[in-house]
Order: sequence, then C-alpha cells, then structure tokens
Amino acid sequence: MSETHDMRGIHATRDVLEVRGLSARYGKVEALSGIDLNLKAGQIVTVIGPNGAGKSTLLNALMGALPAQGQATGEIRHLGERVETLSIEQRVARGICLVPESRALFSTMSVEDNLRLGAWRRSKAGERRYLDQLEPVYALFPRLRERRRQQAGTLSGGERQMLAIGRALMGKPDLLMLDEPSLGLAPLITRDILRIVSQLRETGVATLLVEQNARAALQVADYGYVLETGGVVLEGPASELAANPRVIETYLGFGRGAQSRA
Ligand code: ATP
Repeated sequence: MSETHDMRGIHATRDVLEVRGLSARYGKVEALSGIDLNLKAGQIVTVIGPNGAGKSTLLNALMGALPAQGQATGEIRHLGERVETLSIEQRVARGICLVPESRALFSTMSVEDNLRLGAWRRSKAGERRYLDQLEPVYALFPRLRERRRQQAGTLSGGERQMLAIGRALMGKPDLLMLDEPSLGLAPLITRDILRIVSQLRETGVATLLVEQNARAALQVADYGYVLETGGVVLEGPASELAANPRVIETYLGFGRGAQSRA
C-alpha cells in the first residue's frame, strides 16, 4: 500500500490489522487461500466479491468465530500482536468487534438497553465510564435517540442496522468489522448508513467493510480488495478500483449482482 493514496483519515498511521497468508477451510472445502490484508487506524477498507467468495469466512476467521467444522491458518496481527490463537472473547477484549449479517439484536429490549449491552464487557472490566459512548452514538445516529425507548424488534431494517453498529461502538472497538450492512436495505437507506460509517474515520476506528454492493462500498472506502473464490484477485485504492474496467464490468455493470442488491 503506498503512503500517498491509501488513506484519507488523519489517524491513519499505525497498523490495526495485518493479515498474512490467511487460509480457511470447511472440511475438504477450501474457502480462503493465502489472504494478505492491511488496515490502519481511521481507515475504511472494503472487501467486495460475489456470493460464496469467502467474505463472511474472512470476517469470522478474523474474529475467531468460524463454525466448528471451519479451520483457519495464517497470521493475524492486531496492533502488532499475534491474535490467531485467541478466543472470540479475548479478541473482543482487545477491541476487535464484528457486526454480523444477522444483526442479532435483542428484539424485546429497548433500543437503549441494546446499546447498554454493547458496553457490558467494558462494565465487567471495571471501566467506570463504560457508558461514555452513548452520547457519541446518539450523535452519530439521531434516529436511535428518537427511538431509544422503542423495542428493537419494531425498528425498520435500516434502524436495526444502525442499532447493530451503534451497539458495537459502545464497546469502543479499534477494529470494527461490518458484514454486509446493506443487506436487504433500500438504496437510500444503504447510502445513509454508509455515510455514517464514513464519519467513523474521525474517531480513529479502523473499519473492515464486507459488501456485495460494490458500488456503495467503493464510494465510502479508502482501499479495497476484490475477493473471488477465496483469493484476492485485485486490490488498490477504492477510487482506482471503481475505475478499473474489470471491476466495472463484473461488479458495477448494469444488471449485475452488485446492483441488484443495491
Ligand atoms: P455470501 O455473500 O453468500 O455470504 P461469502 O462471500 O460471504 O458469500 P462465505 O459465506 O464465506 O462467502 O462462503 C465461502 C465458501 O465457503 C462457499 O463455498 C461456501 O459454500 C463455503 N461455506 C461457508 N460456510 C460453510 C460451512 N459452515 N460449511 C461448509 N462450507 C461453508
């Protein structure tokens, strides 16, 4: 990655995540092979690719959350330290956070109680100001403040995604991984959410954004990787990928998957 155009964020100086030779398999099925990837503080990096390319596997492997039959090999460094042998809980405690596709909220609890739960680990660790992210999260998502007493299960799809991201931010992560935040959302809502994600740069959090909606993802990201059948086939500054004829043809062209999910 060159220093001249790999970042827009002011904090983008230290490596939050360095991945070398990451492979993953489910039994005999190889889902990822030899992935190298870097992510700096304040940077938004996207991984785009078609269905089944291995995007969710990548995030789950980074989180230590592959299903029982899944197995990963390779090096994962978080803030310079190897983490690939750590449990999910240990990775969360270090500040690594994954917002899964499912969004997994507590639907009978209020919006605010869901947010408070996001700070549970910090509370358990004895942090006195464990709710200090509540105001910043509400500032980022004013809609959540308006609906703070509403049951999470009654929110719209877009609001649920906002709540899932907000809840993750309550834990003050330095690495935030988002698995298809646009899934099932209307284009305007997707744009809203990704606009808010782009504001996260200022907080210094490093965001790894996995998306099938390549157009939206490349608009918001600093740098991108194209994943196909488990391998990186292209990478570069997001603006260069968006102008790459192969990316345009495969992911940005009319009537393709990239658009149909937009
Ligand atoms: P999608 O956008 O559809 O979620 P993806 O890019 O996230 O796709 P993965 O879900 O990571 O792709 O899947 C990568 C490959 O691994 C696919 O071939 C998939 O069938 C396989 N795979 C995923 N999960 C499992 C599993 N639990 N057991 C066996 N194979 C799996």
